Amino acid sequence: MRNYKLKKLLPMFLLEIKKTGNYKKIYNERIICYFRTKIETYRRKPKAIICYNCSGFYHAAKNCYLKPKCIKCGGEHATRDCIIKEKLPEPKCVNCGESGHIASWKGCKAFPVIPKRSIRSYADAAAGKMEKN
Ligand SMILES: [Zn+2]
Ligand SMILES: [Zn+2]
Ligand SMILES: [Zn+2]
Repeated sequence: MRNYKLKKLLPMFLLEIKKTGNYKKIYNERIICYFRTKIETYRRKPKAIICYNCSGFYHAAKNCYLKPKCIKCGGEHATRDCIIKEKLPEPKCVNCGESGHIASWKGCKAFPVIPKRSIRSYADAAAGKMEKN
């Protein structure tokens, strides 16, 4: 695994295992190939996702049953079907109504804020440890 912010490789590896049979026994593995190891569950960082169909949050376009709403012009079509193909110099945000940014911009006041106290990823935790040492 890699810490993208610090561009450092981390002393950890991401394993994908099939959840069949005695897969939970992997948590008991302490030594793999002469390396002392600790197995932990990987958690993805919580992230706000934006729907490419209606420009709403927290669901993907494939699960969306709402009317399409274009992120570029606010019209009733998906953004990818918009006649405007180029980047707009002064776009109008379909979520907050302000101009100067599009709805997927993270600085938009309508963009959901994920609380800071959310679980730190293991990559971040390890990076913090490395800095201290
Ligand atoms: Zn949607
Ligand atoms: Zn459009
Ligand atoms: Zn906005």
